[in-house]
Amino acid sequence: MSKILNAFVDENLQQLRDQGLYNEIDPVEGPNGPIIKVKGKNLINLSSNNYLGLATNEQLKEIAKNTIEEYGVGAGAVRTINGTLDLHVKLEAKLAEFKGTEAAISYQSGFNCNMAAISAVMDKNDAILSDQLNHASIIDGCRLSKAKIIPFNHSDMEDLRAKAKAATESGQYNKVMVITDGVFSMDGDIAKLPEIVEIAKEFDLITYVDDAHGSGVTGKGKGTVKHFGLQNEIDFQIGTLSKAIGVVGGYVAGKQNVIDWLKVRSRPFLFSTALPPADVAAITAAVQMIIDSTELHDLLWENGDYLKAGLEKLGFNIGHSETPITPCIIGDETLTQQFSKRLIEEGVYAKSIVFPTVPKGTGRVRNMPTAAHTKEMLDDALAIYEKVGKELGVIS
Ligand code: PMP
Repeated sequence: MSKILNAFVDENLQQLRDQGLYNEIDPVEGPNGPIIKVKGKNLINLSSNNYLGLATNEQLKEIAKNTIEEYGVGAGAVRTINGTLDLHVKLEAKLAEFKGTEAAISYQSGFNCNMAAISAVMDKNDAILSDQLNHASIIDGCRLSKAKIIPFNHSDMEDLRAKAKAATESGQYNKVMVITDGVFSMDGDIAKLPEIVEIAKEFDLITYVDDAHGSGVTGKGKGTVKHFGLQNEIDFQIGTLSKAIGVVGGYVAGKQNVIDWLKVRSRPFLFSTALPPADVAAITAAVQMIIDSTELHDLLWENGDYLKAGLEKLGFNIGHSETPITPCIIGDETLTQQFSKRLIEEGVYAKSIVFPTVPKGTGRVRNMPTAAHTKEMLDDALAIYEKVGKELGVIS
């Protein structure tokens, strides 16, 4: 092993450990449902993105098993050689129907999708107006494109408008894109898409919305673009297939010509093996379930509202979430980490999120209730929150 590499990793790992920033990962011993087993102990799980409980849905498991029998476990090639199975074609038609667009393209993950799509259309002669709180995969996708990245203050439409005007009037760029999360995962707030679309129209911006946390959740399950009725206004509707949909993967939904372009120019589509058949079949069925019924969506919101009301009644600061994502803002970083550790010891798995993921002094424990939680589980979680909150002086 290289001596330089050895010194580099040892030194940096030690530094992280000294600062208490080294993230120890405790594996979940079994399915990622509303109750998870960690180190042999059952915990109420408030940290997964399995919003509708579909990751462990019996019908989807059956479909995946049957598809393995029929197709095997792998797609065998990249999409453009012969990895495109009839199942991928069906999935993409279903995604277009789900999002109300002409066409869709799937990728191996949501992260991958942002790396793929942004760099397929933007280059060094372009600029990207990016919400300051956008997800890491959006930031990395923007960097990969080599376009000039112009961050705007979070959901600040005046700032966006001023920067859109300056960028387009400068004459420096061929194309300008505005890019935002649909739902911001740290606070649960929703992007101001109607205003963004208005600004985009004024300055002919390309619009790109990553609705990883909105699909299945907002717009009666159809997502944040649908929530605002803007299906014909957004050029790129991005989603992940790993959160509410419960499996794995990512997608872009949009106009046929945009999707055709991504099929010939987005590198993970061209150079990385296609999603496995069992996953594709399960995803297609999951999307169909969300199209057909709002039952799981309604349960998710009921549980989100219940947990929020309970935490607020206990005196916790739950921020300004507009979705079931429920932050419990503690503030001080060390106290936040201690709070989360005590919750886990008492039986609630809710992870702390601190600087640099969120601004200094706004450390929080983030809760993600799902459609699969029962009221009893949420009551138990609230009782533990009350105990730990009083013990650590966060509530009186
Ligand atoms: N975009 C956003 C906004 C996300 O929150 C995430 C997941 N954390 C991703 C993309 C990545 O999705 P995936 O986990 O499917 O790679």
